[in-house]
Formats: sequence, structure tokens, C-alpha cells
Amino acid sequence: MAKKVKETAHGPKSMKFNSKVIHAGVSPDPSTGAIMTPIFQTSTYVQDEPGVHKGHEYGRTSNPTRSALEANLAALENGKYGLCFSSGLGAMDTLLKMLNPGDEIISTNDLYGGSYRLMTRVYGRFGIKSHFIDLNDTVQLEKLINPRTRLIWIETPTNPMLNIVDIRKVTKIAEKYGIITCVDNTFASPYLQRPLDLGADIILHSCTKYLGGHSDAVLGALVCNKKEIDDQLRFLQNACGATPGPMDCFLILRGIKTLHIRMKRACRNAGRLAEFLKNHPAINKVNYPGFKTHPSHQLASTQMSDYGAMVSFDLKKDSLESAIGVLKKFKMFSLAESLGGVESLVGHPSTMTHASIPREERLKVGLTDSLIRLSVGIEDIEDLMADLDQALS
Ligand SMILES: *Cc1c(COP(=O)(O)O)cnc(C)c1O
Repeated sequence: MAKKVKETAHGPKSMKFNSKVIHAGVSPDPSTGAIMTPIFQTSTYVQDEPGVHKGHEYGRTSNPTRSALEANLAALENGKYGLCFSSGLGAMDTLLKMLNPGDEIISTNDLYGGSYRLMTRVYGRFGIKSHFIDLNDTVQLEKLINPRTRLIWIETPTNPMLNIVDIRKVTKIAEKYGIITCVDNTFASPYLQRPLDLGADIILHSCTKYLGGHSDAVLGALVCNKKEIDDQLRFLQNACGATPGPMDCFLILRGIKTLHIRMKRACRNAGRLAEFLKNHPAINKVNYPGFKTHPSHQLASTQMSDYGAMVSFDLKKDSLESAIGVLKKFKMFSLAESLGGVESLVGHPSTMTHASIPREERLKVGLTDSLIRLSVGIEDIEDLMADLDQALS
């Protein structure tokens, strides 16, 4: 069931962002008055007679808890249509099935490892070719575009180097050639960046990260504004079946209610930690778009409302051993994959999230063996700083 975002007096269009996270797409349950969207734990729905039902037929096709989350996510991204999936990669997999053998994708050369793996090792086998370039190099981008180019896949800020791709510039070029654009907005979240407003056709989220925010559920989403794209995606969502369960939808909906205050606090902590790291003698380079010296600082300032809560850095002693030495010493930062939760995490991209990208490709974008990535949480800054300091000493 295509659930369009309501545009009533109390609907999302009239609300500001911090109200939308709490109210958009949700309303008290009509049968009980429950203020929180119930977890509709059901696989099917009773019909009065064939085809006569209350809007839901089968749990893969739609579920009321999921519909509330889909409407909420659409509203947060200023989109008309939201679709949820069992994971971020499940959402991407469904989207890539819009393409046909022979089609081509152009993407950034500094990409989430799982997205790279799906494009190259899965869709490569089905005759879909992916190119990975610096998307801000518009000369190279236009050179690569040909009649088979169907999709431009943008991820910004990039992972783990935290480069910024100019969404307006790239989507304008794509539009000229009639190419669909998708922005993976996982790192920024709609609190910091709203790609549909900047010209993108589709947004992908791993809601597992900032949207959920509590490291307790895996879920993905797509948001778009064009009916013809939504029709295709909704068909594929039901036809392929990578849909989330209602409990996970509930957890993400609940997490989103504090997105704005979590992001604000996490961004502030990240800015202070980046500053601390910049002056630390053990550090070679800190990647953080909030620095005035960051090559895309100006772009980040116009495209995002803050600089995010991810920081990466590499060590003066650049080796796997020195990185592991530091990683073992963290106490408050937990060594784990993933990001975007209330608790601070530390990761080692070259052996963890980005191990599926060949080492030569990694080194080309500066992803060294000693690169360490922080997902800064919302703890007290003094404790985070003390932990970093002792780990680096
Ligand atoms: C985690 C992540 C994904 C994949 O999402 P899952 O929910 O883990 O499948 C995609 N893109 C980015 C940027 C991510 O961080």
C-alpha cells in the first residue's frame, strides 16, 4: 500500500524538523488510543470478501508499523514516498534491480565496503558494470557517461575518508543526461543533509546507524519524490521481499524521536575530539570536514547543517601493528563495526568495514593500514577525550 505523507494542517509539511521526528507519519492507534504505534506482529489480514480489506493484505506487501515508519522517513527527507527494507544493503539490492544487464553505474571511489561489494561481486556477475571515481571531478564524470549509464551512486560524507561530494553539481549533470541519482545519506542523516532538496532522485538509509541510533536493530530505507520511481521500487520491494519485521520498524521509529538531540550532541563531541586529535603528537592526519583546512569545508558548510559525528585519523607510525596496538587500548570506545549509536565506537576500516576493497584501491584514497575511524557518541566529552589520550599514549 503506497502510503503518501499526509498534508493536513498537522501534517509534515507544516511541521519543522524537530517536530517531524516525533510526529510525522504517526498518529494514536484508532482502536485503542495507544499513543505509540503498535507492533503489528501479524503475517496476514482478514478480508470481508475477496479484495475487500482495511488496506493491508499480506505482511510482506505492507504492515501498519512499517507504513508509519515509511511515512515518517519520507517526511524527514522532504520526500513523498518511503520504503523500508530488512537492511541498508537489502534496500540497495532492491534498487539495483531497477537496472538491466549492460547498464552501468558511476559511483565514488571512497565508498561503504558493502556497497562496493554488492556492485562489483554480485551485480558485476549479472552484467552491470560499476565505475568508481572522484565524483567531484566533473570532467571525468562526463567523460564516463554514455548511453548505458543508468545510475549515479553518491555517498557523502564518504566513508571512512570523510570527503564531501557536491550533490547539487552531480545531480545537475545526471539530470542533463536523464540518469537516476541515489544518495546514501546514512552518515549525515536527514538532520544534517536532505539530498532530495539538492536534486537527488532517491535517498538510501541504513537506519541501523543514526536513525535508529541505539545499535539494536538492522533496517534500511529508500525515499523518493517521483511517482514513477516509487512505483518501480514498491513493485520490487514486494516482488523481492527484503522487508523488515514490525518489531524492528518500531525500534527505528522510537529511535528517530531523539534523532535531533542525539545528532546535535554527537556532532559537538566529534568537533572537540577532532580538534584534540589534530594537536596530538602520535597522529599523522585527521579527517573531519569541520576543519577550515579540510578541502571540502566550504562545500560541507553549504550542503550540511553541521559536520557530522564521524572522525578518522591515521598514525605517524603507519602500520597494521601500531593501529592494533592503539585499538586494543580503548576502554570507553568499543571496537566494533557499525556507527551512529549513542555509544562511541572505534573501527579499523582496512581490516573491518573496508576489508572487501583491495588494498591498492584503499591506498589510492588514503585509507592506510593505520587509519582508525571513530563514531562519536553522546557521552561526556571529558571521558571520551581521556580514553583517546590513554589509547594513543
Ligand atoms: C551500514 C551502511 C550501509 C549498509 O547498511 P546495513 O543496514 O548494514 O545493511 C550502507 N551504507 C553506509 C554508508 C553504511 O554505513
